[in-house]
Amino acid sequence: MPTTTSDVIEFDKRGAIGLITINNPPANALSFAVVKGALEALDACLGDDGIEAVVLTGAGRMFVAGADIREFSIPRPDDVPELNAVIDACEGSPKPVVAAINGIAFGGGLELAMGCHYRLISAAAQVGQPEVNLGIIPGGGGTQRLPRLAGIDAALEMCVYGKPIKADKAGELGIADEVVEGDIVERAIAFAGEVAGRPPRRTGEQTEKLAGLDKARLEEVREDIKKKQRGVVAPLVVVDMIEAAAAMPFEEGLKAEREAFVKLRDSDQSAAMRYMFFAEREAAKIPGIGKDVETRKIEKAAIVGSGTMGGGIAMNFANAGIPVTVLDVDRGALDAGLARVEETYGGSVSRGRMTEEQVTEKMGLIAGTTDYADLADADIVIEAAFEDMDLKKKIFATLDETCKPEAILASNTSSLDIDEIAAATNRPDKVVGMHFFSPANVMRLVENVRTAEASRESLATLMQLSKGLGKTGVMVGVGDGFVGNRMYHVAARIAEFLVEEGAMPWDVDEALYDWGFAMGPFAVNDLAGIDVRVAIREGQKSLYPGRREPVIVPKLYGMGRYGQKTGKGWYDYSEGRKGKPDPEVEALIIETSKELGIERRDFSRSDIIQAYLTALANTGAHVLGEGLAIRSSDIDVIWNYGYGFPRRRGGPMFHADLVGLDKVLAKAGELHEAYGDWVKPAELLKSYAAEGKKFNDFKAG
Ligand code: NAD
Repeated sequence: MPTTTSDVIEFDKRGAIGLITINNPPANALSFAVVKGALEALDACLGDDGIEAVVLTGAGRMFVAGADIREFSIPRPDDVPELNAVIDACEGSPKPVVAAINGIAFGGGLELAMGCHYRLISAAAQVGQPEVNLGIIPGGGGTQRLPRLAGIDAALEMCVYGKPIKADKAGELGIADEVVEGDIVERAIAFAGEVAGRPPRRTGEQTEKLAGLDKARLEEVREDIKKKQRGVVAPLVVVDMIEAAAAMPFEEGLKAEREAFVKLRDSDQSAAMRYMFFAEREAAKIPGIGKDVETRKIEKAAIVGSGTMGGGIAMNFANAGIPVTVLDVDRGALDAGLARVEETYGGSVSRGRMTEEQVTEKMGLIAGTTDYADLADADIVIEAAFEDMDLKKKIFATLDETCKPEAILASNTSSLDIDEIAAATNRPDKVVGMHFFSPANVMRLVENVRTAEASRESLATLMQLSKGLGKTGVMVGVGDGFVGNRMYHVAARIAEFLVEEGAMPWDVDEALYDWGFAMGPFAVNDLAGIDVRVAIREGQKSLYPGRREPVIVPKLYGMGRYGQKTGKGWYDYSEGRKGKPDPEVEALIIETSKELGIERRDFSRSDIIQAYLTALANTGAHVLGEGLAIRSSDIDVIWNYGYGFPRRRGGPMFHADLVGLDKVLAKAGELHEAYGDWVKPAELLKSYAAEGKKFNDFKAG
């Protein structure tokens, strides 16, 4: 019988071998209790003359999935040693310590294993240093020990990009001494018996794999990080630390790593990335819809409309292995739609992301039709026809008649009232929204729209389906533009006013791009189409009771400058997809300011960023107050996955919390004063600012 030394550590003596098992379900995270218990158990082994070697393992399916990040913001109790103390104690032990990596060993888990003198790994296990995903670096010696075991290149790959590797690879790289097919604990005990009495083989003392540091390679990795992860600090620090591993004595490298780790852990960037990590998991939880709610299996899908969105949505199903039938009005439209799908897949082949065989297989899952009878056995139909209420009502009435009674009918509308669409059917409990983003085969976000009568089963099925399609589904309520577009349109209008008053579109875009957005609003406008924006604005007139309308968009429209599709919009695209500032637009803007009697003034980058972010956060507060989003962090997930908001800054709501809601309110008041009631401060913002609360304190209901 194992002796339990604490709630989370089991200790067992197997002959001359001490067996320490971490048992802290579900992930065996290195909580304060685990660290304390593990060190006590190790000390007990060292003090016991009958023990010649030690095996360290995890209970259940995990070795150790990592540090307990929820404890990052809690001060460590005085009687709890640092994780590094345990790792150092393993490495410093005069008796051999063998890690039996029975399952996932991530972050602190792998670092703990690397502190041991030998590592055996189960064939199905994985190891990794994913800390960068949380805005930090390995802080338990990972950047110093991993290059010693696996070499500099492999350590860079694992620590900079955070991707885990499988057991076989860990064996090849030298991270593990042996890959074990059978019972790993039994094998580890036997192994410990073999190495007992030998001098410990300490990772920190190994230097062979550090030789021949390739500085040019380090530079290449740094450039890659700067290009692909603009403004993200942790991966760059990882490179510095791995360089330090080769350049410094082990102890000094550890010290440098520790200092860098603490600095990052306490930074806003890491706080934002940790917040986003939890935000994503939270978004999957819908109050009132627990695991008890049954979901429908989606084994066959259908799409109405094979245009830009319909084709992309169909690809998602095919990619997930679900057969999908696409319907369009006539053969011509359908063939054109399916040809575009094939062309998009072709692009993946030429980029080496897919093989011809895979494309054939995916295309084999996509059928085309012009006959509704072919949709009769679909489990879900997603409508992506033109944005027209009467048309959508007709389509839904037809679907209601032809599809099996249990089928879910979803609309991909961007702005129409889905409750009204649902009322055109006899199954309003099965009518919902699935708002995909363009390009639908690429963008991770889906706003799942909860209609007034939607059943819990329908909603639970939607959430499950989005996950099955590899998407991040966020539940939102019915309202113009749902959550993301509602906020975007307000902020984009503010940006247009800034342009009328003194900024140039490229100044606004550059300020926001440099702040971290994937694109500024004018570049986005050119991509989505100025004509589309004019149509949206037409439909939204009543939503913006203000003092004046921004006037440049209609002027560009009048000039036939529809954006990228016509080669000119806010920018000039004559030299490629990256538009350049256009003197014609500059003259038009200056002329417009004159007509409006506005004396143009300078806007600093910070003026621009503040105005834009305030418009977002204030509208987000309206959205929360109106019950269109369940929680503030859902809004941030939407902005991260749908609108290129930099993850390293959290989202617009997190950022507002960081700035302080009193300051956000003051700025929102200025916008209100300048532009009218459509940007008036939300009641929720006012009350939270007065009470010193954060948006993140908001709980729905
Ligand atoms: P699109 O014009 O590219 O495609 C619409 C398709 O629907 C066309 O192929 C058309 O032939 C077909 N169609 C029209 N009437 C039909 C009918 N009665 N029956 C069957 N098919 C019919 O439009 P899109 O950009 O793909 O947008 C489709 C829907 O998705 C709209 O509701 C739009 O608001 C929404 N949406 C678009 C985007 C976007 O960025 N384009 C993003 C999210 C949501």
